[in-house]
Amino acid sequence: MKLELTSEMRAAMPLIEQLEAEGHEAVFVGGAVRDAVLGLSVHDIDIATSALPEQVMALFPKCIPTGLQHGTVTVVQEGETYEVTTYRTESEYEQFRKPSSVAYVLQLDEDLLRRDFTMNAMAIRQSGSVYDPYDGLSDLHKFRLRCVGKADERLQEDALRMLRAIRFLGTYGLRPVPSLWRAMKAYKPLLRHIAMERVQAELDKMLSGDVPERALAWLGASGLWADFKEAVPPDLLARIQEIAEDGRDEMASLGSLEHLDERWAAILLSLQADEKDAQELLASLRLPNKRTSLIMTVLRLHSELAVRVNTGDEPGIRAAWLASVIRFGEEAAMHWLHVVRALKPQAGQVSEESANRLSAMLEEMPVKSLKQLAVSGNDLQQALSRKAGPWMSIMLKRLLIAAASGEVANERDKLLAASLLWNEEGI
Ligand code: ATP
Ligand code: MG
Repeated sequence: MKLELTSEMRAAMPLIEQLEAEGHEAVFVGGAVRDAVLGLSVHDIDIATSALPEQVMALFPKCIPTGLQHGTVTVVQEGETYEVTTYRTESEYEQFRKPSSVAYVLQLDEDLLRRDFTMNAMAIRQSGSVYDPYDGLSDLHKFRLRCVGKADERLQEDALRMLRAIRFLGTYGLRPVPSLWRAMKAYKPLLRHIAMERVQAELDKMLSGDVPERALAWLGASGLWADFKEAVPPDLLARIQEIAEDGRDEMASLGSLEHLDERWAAILLSLQADEKDAQELLASLRLPNKRTSLIMTVLRLHSELAVRVNTGDEPGIRAAWLASVIRFGEEAAMHWLHVVRALKPQAGQVSEESANRLSAMLEEMPVKSLKQLAVSGNDLQQALSRKAGPWMSIMLKRLLIAAASGEVANERDKLLAASLLWNEEGI
């Protein structure tokens, strides 16, 4: 089969041509080939070559020795980076993950043999012809995911492949061949050897696709959650298993959310995770603090507002919403609104209509943060002739709420007048 090369591959072609001109072999491999075959957009381009790393480095002026121990050199050309890896095998695996040593080989077939799944073991040559010794094309046409070689052996060598399998099943809408599914069930305890950072990276990739629900359903059905190196909190795990066993469709419409961490928040709310469990799970996954804090803020907003918005007490809802926007910030409030719109009714509790009303209120708020308030702490000190102290932040907060709700206009003199009055009243 001959393929129309993608524009990214055409841009990388000079690398292949230069290597070939020197008498080496060089081909496109990996995810780029898989995605090009499927007519999808291609992100990172990997090249495999018979040239040794030092030969690659001698040929291209701009190189970064990113992974020399694995035979990988990153070549920079026209501002793009390309990973160029010498044909290799992985001899022994250590701790069910990284190969303890690699050996260079001369044949492309041998290099492709070490790759995880047949659809990831195809290559595209300079001519555009697809080289596919392990029948990846045929598996793709049949929508099935299959290991190169025996699934039992391949998953035991490297347990991360199980999570990669889930990602591919979800992203490409495939089904595992029975031997792969059986092996995943049998060897899932080996996931204990995989660093949580790697688990998190795979989960993020799974959740970033167009239909993240599909990967999540496979993840639930496989039971892999139960075998992470660091345990998922028991209540959460029980809930995941319950949903998986009943085959219930309770997960939020994640695909409608653009922001990855909104997807995470929606999952935690769908699982009815309490704050402690959510925090524990995110910490075990080594999620960076900034991301954890965004997700946790959305959960907090939900626990403060979800029940309240159904009370019908409009002034109370409005006051709580303003206070939450001020406390957690406009951005977090918007994230929460996105998330509640994606939740299924069981977890959601906030109707479309309520979400629309809150959204309109947010838009109409004249001020949403202290930064936007027309007076500062300094202004207050001067106007009230008072020394700096804790009263300032109390006063600023009260002014902010008044300005946000439209009770006092966000104008310097109006705000200072209000502060004078409240000061006399003893604030
Ligand atoms: P994507 O780039 O879309 O995340 P990918 O399949 O390209 O997916 P990479 O991590 O970029 O993933 O790896 C490039 C190629 O290296 C894969 O297509 C596969 O052939 C091989 N590979 C990656 N990880 C493994 C692994 N754990 N076991 C065996 N082969 C692997
Ligand atoms: Mg890739």
